[in-house]
Amino acid sequence: MARKIIVVGGGPAGVFAALEAKRVDPAAVVTLVSEERFEPYERPPLSKAVLLGTAKAEDTLIAGPGGFAQRGIALKLGTRCVAIDPDARIVNTTDGSLPYDSLVLATGSRMRELPDLPFGGQNVHYLRTADDAIRFKSELSPGSHLLIIGAGLIGLEAAASAAALGVRITVIEAASSLMARTCDRLTAARIAAEHEKHGINFELSTSVIRSSKQPDGTLLVETSNGKTFSAQAILVAIGVKPDDTLAVTASIAVDDGILVDAECRTSIPNIFAAGDATRLVGPGFSERQENWRHAQDQGAVAGRNAAGAAEKYVPLPSYWSEQYDLYIQGIGRPAQNVQNVIRTISESGAISFEVKDGIIEHAIGINAQRDMAAVRRLIERRVKVDLTALKDTKRPLNALLKAAAPAS
Ligand SMILES: Cc1cc2nc3c(=O)[nH]c(=O)nc-3n(C[C@H](O)[C@H](O)[C@H](O)COP(=O)(O)OP(=O)(O)OC[C@H]3O[C@@H](n4cnc5c(N)ncnc54)[C@H](O)[C@@H]3O)c2cc1C
Repeated sequence: MARKIIVVGGGPAGVFAALEAKRVDPAAVVTLVSEERFEPYERPPLSKAVLLGTAKAEDTLIAGPGGFAQRGIALKLGTRCVAIDPDARIVNTTDGSLPYDSLVLATGSRMRELPDLPFGGQNVHYLRTADDAIRFKSELSPGSHLLIIGAGLIGLEAAASAAALGVRITVIEAASSLMARTCDRLTAARIAAEHEKHGINFELSTSVIRSSKQPDGTLLVETSNGKTFSAQAILVAIGVKPDDTLAVTASIAVDDGILVDAECRTSIPNIFAAGDATRLVGPGFSERQENWRHAQDQGAVAGRNAAGAAEKYVPLPSYWSEQYDLYIQGIGRPAQNVQNVIRTISESGAISFEVKDGIIEHAIGINAQRDMAAVRRLIERRVKVDLTALKDTKRPLNALLKAAAPAS
């Protein structure tokens, strides 16, 4: 009998799980269930090309230009999985029940909401899905004032895109610098300067105290620094939380994410999970990630294991972001008590390294795409580096990779 594999969620984790499961076991009947109405599309362009109007979500299919056609995978769109019965090995959906031999949960994350500015409110926006992007874009008219709450990656990318459309923008951020979770202060200052050059106004160390709707339809927002802003639209971009709602229906262990081991196995046999929805735990290790590359790589391992393999996933956090002409890439884990080393590549290009005991723990590159592949390998292999060489652009990073012996 052919193995039945159900994958829940049409983000990169779910798509790569389905594709890899089918590749490992071509005889398997693989079904991908997604509650969204579109064939699985990439989210990263939603805050970039889709807002700018240079691409549509349906142009950026995760499974590639032809999408799922010809892949031998059944796609159930507009279908929500509502409960799992692990004893009967059945998933209940809004369109009937589906039996499974292996199940992959790739339910992703949901936006964190501000209670005073809930999802769906008039002129209030959150940016997670293609429908969110379509609705948000329709309110970005030149000369209007947009308030963005949160200076993380999505808030800043939306700011850059909206600025290009002629919108006036104020960004309100509770932390004292932007991208505070992922970025060192020097790089953050560099990114802030680029935004300010494009007319963005930042209100840092500031939070929203209250907001109200005015008779003319605009929103009035009072902030903790004693200011009042009137805006035609608000984007709330204060982060995400893992979507474990479905896992909870099967009593799968969750703790700020569906708990998985290195093989992407949950606490219940034959149920795997991957992507933003998960927290990877191991001896002395517990980590949740929210980035595309992680979703893709962990999803692929979950899919292969759901089809009978027993592979381990070794995570290395990494993300990219595009703001104006800045291509920003982060790799590794920010650490304490590090030495900071800057490698200046060009007028616009630099890498900021955080080094501890000669090992690069974390690096952020701006317009440094060619070097960042070598940086990834230096971090992955925990190569001991010489700090002078790291700064010296006459010494290619690939040479450091070859010259240095791996650290113990
Ligand atoms: C606007 C935006 C820009 C981004 N830009 C970048 C970037 O530049 N670089 C980067 O590294 N990362 C970026 N990210 C983050 C990246 O897109 C996510 O980390 C990634 O999409 C996570 O993939 P996932 O498959 O785990 O989950 P998701 O992409 O969240 O997909 C989960 C899917 O599961 C569906 N689902 C959930 N529950 C059910 C259910 N019960 N039944 C059926 N379907 C269900 C959801 O509707 C959703 O379609 C961006 C994210 C957004 C929103």
